[in-house]
Formats: sequence, C-alpha cells, structure tokens
Amino acid sequence: MPSSVRNDAKGMSKLSETLGFIGLGNMGHHMASRLLRQGYSMVLYDIRQEALDPFREHPNVTVASSCAEVPAQAKTILVSLPNPQVVRSVVLGEGGLCSGGKFDTYIDLSTTGPQVSEEIGRKLAEHGTVSLDAPVSGGVPGAEAGTLSIMVSGDKAAYERHMPVFQTIGKKIFYVGSSVGQAQTMKLANNYLSAVALAATSEAIVLGVKAGLDPQTMLDVLNASSGRNSATLDKFPAAVLNRKFDYGFKSGLMYKDVALCLAEADRLGVTMWAGTNIKELWKLTKEKLGYDSDTTEIIRIFEEWGGVEVTA
Ligand code: NAD
Repeated sequence: MPSSVRNDAKGMSKLSETLGFIGLGNMGHHMASRLLRQGYSMVLYDIRQEALDPFREHPNVTVASSCAEVPAQAKTILVSLPNPQVVRSVVLGEGGLCSGGKFDTYIDLSTTGPQVSEEIGRKLAEHGTVSLDAPVSGGVPGAEAGTLSIMVSGDKAAYERHMPVFQTIGKKIFYVGSSVGQAQTMKLANNYLSAVALAATSEAIVLGVKAGLDPQTMLDVLNASSGRNSATLDKFPAAVLNRKFDYGFKSGLMYKDVALCLAEADRLGVTMWAGTNIKELWKLTKEKLGYDSDTTEIIRIFEEWGGVEVTA
C-alpha cells in the first residue's frame, strides 16, 4: 500500500503504489481521476477508446491495450463495470485479468450481485489473489466529490490495507462481512429501495400535478414529512423538476440491479411481492426509453399515462 510518497520529474507528488483500473464510465472516470489526484500511478483500460482519451496525457497514467496487460504493472486492480457477465469475462475470460499473470488484490466497485462475486472470489483465490467486493452508492455526484458510501466484504486485513484507496473515493466506508458477496447483497437491498423510491415518487408527483398541485410545493411538503426519500431529497430537485434528466445512472443499470435483487431473493427463498412489480416497471422503462436513458426519466412513463407534464 501507499507507504511512501516521492516526487516525479515534473515535481508531482506520487505514491509508491500503482493501481489498475478497468471501466472508466460515468462512475469509474471520476473514481480514477480522484485516485490520480491523490498521487497514485495508474494503469487504465476500457473497451471504449473515448473513455481513455481524457487520461492519455497524464504523466502518471499508462493506458493498457487489454485487460491482460494490467497485472504486469499493477498488483491491486479495481473494476467499475456494467454487469456480472462483463465482470466475469474481464476477470476470468479469454484475454482477461487472470490470463495476464499474478496480482495481489482485486476490488470490484461495480454492482454485480453476490453470485458472480462468490464465483470470482473462489477462482481468484486459486490464482493467489485476494478479492474484495466494494460496491458504491452516491451516484455520479458522489463519485466526483469523493463522498460515495462504500460497502466492503471479504478479507478484513486486505480491507484495512486498502483503506487509503477507499478513503480517496468515498466518505462513509462500511465493512459488512468477511464473505465475498455479502457487500453485493447489501448493495442490491439498497438499490432495490432506491428503485422503489424513484418509481413511487414519480407516480405520486404525477398524481398530485394532475390534481392541480404544484410539484415544488409537493417536494417541500414531502421532504418535511414521512414520504421523503432519496428521490424527493436528491433526484427530483437535481434532475426532474428542471427537466434535465441528467442524474447519471442509466435505466438499463437500474433494471439490472432490481433483476439481480429478485434473483437473489429467489435463491434465498424470500418473497418480494412489491419487487416483482418494480422489476417489470424498470424493464418497461429500459425498453421504452432505452438502456442509456437516465433513471430519472421514468417519470415520462407516468406522465404519458396521466396526460400531464411535471415542471417546476
Ligand atoms: P457505465 O456504463 O457508464 O460504465 C461502464 C464502463 O465499463 C464503460 O466505460 C464501458 O465502456 C466499460 N466496459 C464495458 N465492458 C467492458 C469490458 N469488457 N472491458 C473494459 N471495459 C468495459 O456505468 P456506470 O454508471 O459507471 O456504472 C458502473 C458500475 O457501477 C455498474 O455496475 C453500476 O451499476 C454501478 N453504479 C453506478 C452508479 C451510477 O450512479 N452511475 C452508482 C453506483 C453504482
């Protein structure tokens, strides 16, 4: 871990450890930028060249041309990738991290569900690598500001060793269990509630606007009352009432998270009655508005059904 700080030729302070980072999308871009500003050297990879472009000229960055190139240069590798299938192929697939040689620690910041985390954890252990799952919450604004909450599970000593990395990208860091996968279950429970809140708030606000209520007044009342939630507090003021719809989380990813949550409920024999409807609703949103649509756009579905538009 970054035990020493040195200055490079340009006088920039530089931590002794080099980190690998794969997946420089909406979240990964900001997390990698923060780690660079902290002084880490980094080896970066993404399948999209345009995701790598902003980093190419940075003196402390090496851009890899495949996942397999990363372990030769970085012994701690973080990933922030869209779904379990991609994570599995990046780590275990042909040309993936495991084909690139030994590395010490793998940290998965994505939301992938416990099943793939457990499978990867087992296979990486055979490879001599310690796994931590460390999904994050707080959205793009939290990634940019370094105020994410991070839930971590896996080997406690590895968690403690990597605390400086977690503290660079997050503010509230929770160790939730010693088994890889437990933090993923924690994250699915969180995102399920976030998905419910955004969908149900959209329904409630459309109802009120149809009845002639002012949406800003509704938010003011809700935020001082028992209906307040992450949509009324954050998402509606930041991206719905102003019609910007740019909160930064894709509907396709939200559907993936709710589907993973319901799959885990099935695996554990837990009934999630409301969850079944919420999953269908997010499936519809993804299909009607597109995988890349912003999650806050779900309100357009209720607006169309209700025949009203919600504006400040
Ligand atoms: P994103 O789609 O913007 O970014 C994913 C990145 O992975 C992209 O740059 C993509 O090119 C890259 N990628 C895809 N396949 C790849 C491959 N085979 N090899 C290398 N790179 C590949 O997604 P995001 O919003 O940054 O989210 C990343 C993860 O974090 C997801 O699991 C998501 O559920 C989770 N998450 C997102 C948010 C949010 O608000 N956006 C918040 C918390 C957690």
